[in-house]
Amino acid sequence: MQLIDTHCHLDFPVFDQDREALLDRCRALGVTEYIIPAIAENNWTRVIALADQHIDFFYGLGVHPWYAGEQREGVMDRLRALVMSQPAGLVAIGECGLDLRSHVPQEGQLALFEAQIRLASDADLPLMVHSVRANDTVAKVLRRFKPPRGGVIHAFSGSLQQAEAFWQLGFRLGVGGVISFERANKTRDVFKVMPLEALVLETDSPDMPLQSEQGARNTPESLPKIAAILMDLRDEPARLVADMLLCNARNLFHHGT
Ligand SMILES: [Zn+2]
Repeated sequence: MQLIDTHCHLDFPVFDQDREALLDRCRALGVTEYIIPAIAENNWTRVIALADQHIDFFYGLGVHPWYAGEQREGVMDRLRALVMSQPAGLVAIGECGLDLRSHVPQEGQLALFEAQIRLASDADLPLMVHSVRANDTVAKVLRRFKPPRGGVIHAFSGSLQQAEAFWQLGFRLGVGGVISFERANKTRDVFKVMPLEALVLETDSPDMPLQSEQGARNTPESLPKIAAILMDLRDEPARLVADMLLCNARNLFHHGT
């Protein structure tokens, strides 16, 4: 089985001590590729440099909504210039989006999200979207802009209706550690019935550890466990689920390559 972690923050300092050893263990588990979203201007060059050193690393460039309030003037101009220079390994815009649970003023979050959607459209790249307590608003914004390459709603959590709205807009749903939680019935039901084509796997490492691993640093080693939970939920044979998830991630991020 070959798996792609479509959302993990392997550039974070928490991985500095043992990144290579961790990657070896992940490779042995079948995790063969990583998509690393940048979260703000101060980690763009770090993410690019890491991808330079690892053939299995690809990345998104963007500004996460949590940091919308603290970006320096002209951040979008610099992001646009960098994206348009087409650095090797760039496959998405993000992480961007809306987080209505955070204290960052919504207006600033929205302006930055919209600017990144426009950039994704201009650069013909998919979006890596963070949507927390904001699914309906995010869907409304996406409906207005209709970014041609769509993207992924990472760590999707929400109703079937919201999932279908995103899928119709050309967005896949990131299946993460959420599904390991007993209380996540609603989200599990969504992943059970949505078309398999609509799903991609992710860990969001070092965040979102599985229920059984609370308090620990999450790593892409949990990806096979997330895949196994999803396979249990689905009616299709496990092999087909694995093949399709791989194909979905490739179609999303390596379209035309
Ligand atoms: Zn993230």
